[in-house]
Amino acid sequence: MALTRRELLETGIGTVSVLSFSLLSFPGLEKLAKAAETETVAEIPVIWMATGSCSGCSVSLLNSTSPSIQEVLLGEVLPGKHVSLGFHATVMAAAGELAMDAVGKIAQEHKGQYVLVVDGGISVKDDELYCTVGEVDGRRVSAYELVRDLSRDALAVLATGACASFGGVPAAPPNPTACVGIGRRFKHEGIDTPYVNIPGCPPHPDWIVGTIATLLLGGLEALGLDELHRPAPFFRDTIHDNCSLRGHFDRGNFAQHFGEHGCLLKLGCKGPITFSDCGIRKWNGGTSWCCEAGHPCIGCCHPEFPFEQSLFAPVEPADLPFPAAYPSAVEGPPSKDVDTGTYVTLGLIGAGAFLAGVGVTAAATRLQAEEEPEVADPSPPEGTE
Ligand code: SF4
Ligand code: SF4
Repeated sequence: MALTRRELLETGIGTVSVLSFSLLSFPGLEKLAKAAETETVAEIPVIWMATGSCSGCSVSLLNSTSPSIQEVLLGEVLPGKHVSLGFHATVMAAAGELAMDAVGKIAQEHKGQYVLVVDGGISVKDDELYCTVGEVDGRRVSAYELVRDLSRDALAVLATGACASFGGVPAAPPNPTACVGIGRRFKHEGIDTPYVNIPGCPPHPDWIVGTIATLLLGGLEALGLDELHRPAPFFRDTIHDNCSLRGHFDRGNFAQHFGEHGCLLKLGCKGPITFSDCGIRKWNGGTSWCCEAGHPCIGCCHPEFPFEQSLFAPVEPADLPFPAAYPSAVEGPPSKDVDTGTYVTLGLIGAGAFLAGVGVTAAATRLQAEEEPEVADPSPPEGTE
C-alpha cells in the first residue's frame, strides 16, 4: 500500500530525519536514503516471529534510541518507506485466532513484499513438538512450520539474535530439543529465500534497525553479507581490534580476578575470536559496553556461543605467547641517550611483539574459519529426522 507523504502526515505522525540515525555509521546508508526520496510512502509490513527465544531480542529492539522505536514504527524514518509491524506476539494486543488470522492476511496480501524477522532457535525434534506458536482449526502449528511457510513468500528473512542465527542458547549442548538456526534449516529444506544473520545475545538495536533500513533502501547487496550471512560493516572486526582495554593487553597487564584493572583475557574474554563492533558502537545509547564495564566479552556474536565449555574458560589464543612476554614496542626516533646498538635491539624486540600479535590474529582468524563448515552443514542434528 502506498500513501502520499501528505496522507502519512495527516495521520498525526511526525516525520523523522533519516540523518538522525546513529546507525548511519553503516557505510552508504545516507547516500541510499537520499537516492530513495520520493513523493509517496510505501508501507513495508514486518512480521516478527518469536520461536525458541527469551524475548531479549525484542527488548533490545525496544531500546533503540536513535531512532527510537516510536520513530521507527510511527514515523517515516526512511524516505519513501513506512515500516509497519504487522505481527509481534510479545507486544501486539491481538491473541489466539485473531492473531493467527492477522499473520495469514499479511502474508497473503503482501506476497514477496514483507520482511520476516525470526527471533529464536528452531526446534525440530519429535515433529517440532517443543515449540508451538498457535493453532489453526484446532491443529497445533509449530514455530518451524509457520517460519517455513512465511519464509517462502518473504522479501527476506532476518535471523535476529544468536539463537535464530546459529542455534544459540536453546541449542547449547546437549541440545535436548534439537534446535538449529535458520540458515541450517533452510539448507535442509531447500528454501532459497535470502536470509541475514544478525547474531548477538541480544543483538544491538542498531544492528536490527540498520539492517532493515539498509535492506529496504538498497536491497540485499547493500548489506555486504559475509560468508556467515552477517552484514559485514557491523561484524567485520574482532572485539579485540577495538577494545578500550587493548593497551593493557599489549603491555601484558592481565586482570587475574574480577574487579581488577587490566585486560580480561585470563578471565575468559572471547574478544580475540568474536567479530562485532560493540567497542565502537557501545550499548544503551552509547553509555558503555561489556569489557569497558569490567566484564569479559562472552562471545555472544560468535557462531559457537554459548560454547561447550564455561563462558569464562580462556580462549585458545591465551595459550600462545602474548606480548606479556615482551617489553613494550618503542615508537618514534631514538633519543640522544640511546646508542644505535640499543635502538636496533629495541627494534628487533618490537618486531617480535608485532609478529606475536600477527600470530594471535592469524590464530583467531583460523579458529573462526575452522568453525564455518560446521555452521554451514545442512544436515539436521541427530535424531531430528
Ligand atoms: S582480550 Fe578482551 S579485554 Fe583484553 S584487549 Fe582483547 S577484547 Fe579487550
Ligand atoms: S562485547 Fe561480546 S558479549 Fe558483549 S555484546 Fe559484544 S559480542 Fe556480546
